[in-house]
Amino acid sequence: MLPYGRHSITEDDVEAVAEVLRGDWLTTGPAVGRFEAELTRWTGGVPCLAVTSGTAALHVAYTATGVGPGDEVITSPLTFVATASTAVLRGARVVFADVQPDTGNLDPGAASAAVTGRTRAITAVDYAGHPADYDELREVAGRAGATLIGDAAHSLGSTYRDRPVGRLADLTTFSFFPTKTVTTAEGGAVAVADPERFARASRFRNHGLVREPAEQRDPEHGGWHQEVHEFGLNYRLPDVLCALGLSQLRRLGAFRARRAELVARYHALLGGLPGLTLPARRSYTDPSWHLYPIRIHDGRRREVYQRMRAAGIGVQVNYVPAYWHPVFEDLGYQRGLCPEAEAYYAEQLSLPLFPDLTDAQQDRVADHLAAVLR
Ligand SMILES: *Cc1c(COP(=O)(O)O)cnc(C)c1O
Repeated sequence: MLPYGRHSITEDDVEAVAEVLRGDWLTTGPAVGRFEAELTRWTGGVPCLAVTSGTAALHVAYTATGVGPGDEVITSPLTFVATASTAVLRGARVVFADVQPDTGNLDPGAASAAVTGRTRAITAVDYAGHPADYDELREVAGRAGATLIGDAAHSLGSTYRDRPVGRLADLTTFSFFPTKTVTTAEGGAVAVADPERFARASRFRNHGLVREPAEQRDPEHGGWHQEVHEFGLNYRLPDVLCALGLSQLRRLGAFRARRAELVARYHALLGGLPGLTLPARRSYTDPSWHLYPIRIHDGRRREVYQRMRAAGIGVQVNYVPAYWHPVFEDLGYQRGLCPEAEAYYAEQLSLPLFPDLTDAQQDRVADHLAAVLR
């Protein structure tokens, strides 16, 4: 089966990992800081913390924001459930606001209408790699006195009005799962502009441990002493995986370029086909495309999905609206809440897109889709 997404691993990646395995550090060692520093170049200088997954990154971001019981977090339902579930795990209530029909991104107007006195954070999702409308969302967040968070699991390397993802929100989260733009197997990161929030995020990642004597309540114990002031978790990304990430980041520019080339080829190959809508790109963005999301009209998405799969083409659907998950249904969220997101889901299909996809494989995808739609 041709997958919808796949990692690209070279011998350089293998060697980078093997080198760490032969050394003194398996977990927190020098590769962690090097990876974070390199990542910080991609976020336009906003400092980054490596963590164990994109989900951990979201959990860290909500914690560093101070999201807790009584707070509301506004987000898009057209996302992987972790964007919302990590806020619920902090004790917050998630308020889903609808998406723009062309990009599938959180609609600033809908987000604005969802603001209440309890709104603590607004989390945008850069669906398929296309940055959300951050300038408008920043205004909404500013008026609400809320923190703007970017779930950039899809969009590492993307730019919006000539600014890189990572600098567009107060906190930005990334995922390095194998289908994402660069991989560390499992892994993620959070970019945090504010130094106090950065310190809080950094501690939460490491059990909440306070190591600096100047900041300890009882620093007289001795050099071994560490204190917990706020509960945390172990979300540390090991050196072995940071070495892989560092090696992968060297090719992020090439990954971006190949993904853009494949997107342009899909546009050309599928542009004339009836019965579908191709993904839009707003002129002021330069996405690192993670997905190639098309919309299949006339109620034929299920049929197209099944016939593509039967032909060995691993198409995927991204995503079922988050509040359709039974766990949200049980909390009282009802269907019909976000009609644009539900309409998007009803038609959506992700075609294979990854750097090592060959032109010939892509031609086969396009030919088969054309045959199915005919
Ligand atoms: C992949 C993904 C996540 C979660 O990342 P993991 O590394 O798999 O935990 C969160 N949000 C979005 C939009 C994602 O695509």
